[in-house]
Amino acid sequence: MNEVLSRLRELLFPSVPGVAVVAVHSEGNAIRVEARCTPIGAACPDCSHWTERVHSSYLRSPADLPAAGRSAQLVLKVRRFFCTATGCGRRTFV
Ligand SMILES: [Zn+2]
Repeated sequence: MNEVLSRLRELLFPSVPGVAVVAVHSEGNAIRVEARCTPIGAACPDCSHWTERVHSSYLRSPADLPAAGRSAQLVLKVRRFFCTATGCGRRTFV
């Protein structure tokens, strides 16, 4: 079973830049893949200022995928950042 999970990990994620698989769980007939974004910061969508000040993080489930008759859920950990630029009207962004 572990072999299947590590194979799934290899198949799914090398093609997604900036995303790392944290864990793959098998729960009954379902597979749960947890991933997070790897960059340490992000640019503000309004002013393009780069920030590494994390406001918070939470889990988002962008996709429920069928996988060979089993249910596979992708859970992505996303972060909210502070924009630290003076004069920018946006305080935080995801
Ligand atoms: Zn900004």
